[in-house]
Amino acid sequence: MEVLYKSTRSKGDPVKASQAILKGLADDGGLFVPDHIPALDMGLSELAAMDYRQVAYEVMKLFLTDFTEEELRDCIHRAYDEKFDTEAIAPLREARGAFYLELFHGSTIAFKDMALSILPYLLTTSARKNHIENEIVILTATSGDTGKAALAGFADVEGTRIVVFYPKSGVSPIQEKQMVTQKGKNTLVVGIHGNFDDAQTGVKRIFSDKAFGEELLGKGFQFSSANSINIGRLVPQVCYYVYAYGQLLAQGKIAEGERINVVVPTGNFGNILAAYYAKSMGLPIGKLICASNENKVLYDFFQTGVYDRNREFKLTSSPSMDILISSNLERLIYRIAGEDAVLNGEMMASLSGRGKYEITEEMKNKLGDFYGGYADEEETGAEIARLYGECGYVLDTHTAVASCVYRKYVKETGDSTVSVIASTASPFKFTRSVMNAIDGKYDAMEDFELVDELSRLAGVKVPGAIEEIRTASVVHDRQCQVDEMKDVVREFLGI
Ligand SMILES: *Cc1c(COP(=O)(O)O)cnc(C)c1O
Repeated sequence: MEVLYKSTRSKGDPVKASQAILKGLADDGGLFVPDHIPALDMGLSELAAMDYRQVAYEVMKLFLTDFTEEELRDCIHRAYDEKFDTEAIAPLREARGAFYLELFHGSTIAFKDMALSILPYLLTTSARKNHIENEIVILTATSGDTGKAALAGFADVEGTRIVVFYPKSGVSPIQEKQMVTQKGKNTLVVGIHGNFDDAQTGVKRIFSDKAFGEELLGKGFQFSSANSINIGRLVPQVCYYVYAYGQLLAQGKIAEGERINVVVPTGNFGNILAAYYAKSMGLPIGKLICASNENKVLYDFFQTGVYDRNREFKLTSSPSMDILISSNLERLIYRIAGEDAVLNGEMMASLSGRGKYEITEEMKNKLGDFYGGYADEEETGAEIARLYGECGYVLDTHTAVASCVYRKYVKETGDSTVSVIASTASPFKFTRSVMNAIDGKYDAMEDFELVDELSRLAGVKVPGAIEEIRTASVVHDRQCQVDEMKDVVREFLGI
């Protein structure tokens, strides 16, 4: 059955998958959501025998129903190839009773690669299908990892340009170096004087500026988004939960049909929403454990039903989760509001006006699948040190937040369900914080000395993504104020 995509904020006509991918954000500022969640149409035992690409095809064909089999398989094969440093693409690693789903084996060593290696192909295929001749301009706000993954995906892709805005003082040194050394003449990287929420709000504002959009169309450009507000980001993320389930089955860790829990270190709520979609498709998932760092707006939301961003923004050692406005939560709100676009719209208006909203009791009752937890900086560091000490496995800071929340959850509930922890970044991406957590003595070392030391400690080869930036030269040094973002885009496009 065809899946169409409608906006969370209006009753406007639904669009096809390819059109939703092209647009990124709906015209009314809402997010595109599938009009129904398709059910998995193969037996779980079949999953166990499939490789990553096969699973990806089985899942994505159900959501992207206007893509032909040939188109979709082509996108999948171009995306999940030798760019990943392991045949498994997303290997499961067991450590001290939990399963870490390593989503960081792609070209920029963070889980964003899982979706951003395929998005450029989905997007250019969508453009072709819809006879779009305009150049597509990808505008992206990043808290550190999306930026590089999107740049790597779109660099020198014909018919596209990409502009990435990141918080100048809000990303790790390695994240910044990865972005500002990006080659490709269709790329622009800009550090803004503000935090991630400012960057994200600025990008959304440009998207919903109708006059600007028309002016661009007149010049042969149209915008799209590589952020997880784009359904083309979300759908590929559903696949790895399904794949993980198949792997657990194949390894004999679970019986067919047995439920698993999923733990996700969360920022913009995209990754965990993908797990929720996987569950809604019929994958046997019990709890969806949403792990936050000290910016625990989501934890508070699950506790109280009040989403309140009016609080101090904290810079933590897990910067990709330093977010107070979790965009994708809107898709969940819409769902638990019974797909009531008006009610959802009111709440989102309240969020942008007063910085908060409260869901109804009835909506709250529909959140039973979720469990919210958080870990502070000290606990996060201690979790890295603990696991390293116990078994030599080194987690990155984001995964450590999730791992810590998982331990707290087990302690609190006694739930012994087999659990998959989404391992969202390589420790090499956050080397300094990781090494400091293991031992204070590393503080005095240089960044790349630390990299080599981490490689020695963990017994893991330095990833190509890090070797690459050791000597790469900086090619982007543009900075701007939040209210100059639009001008920067103009300048880059030469209009
Ligand atoms: C983006 C990111 C997250 C948060 O994912 P969301 O989909 O935004 O919730 C967590 N960890 C890492 C390493 C990330 O890059």
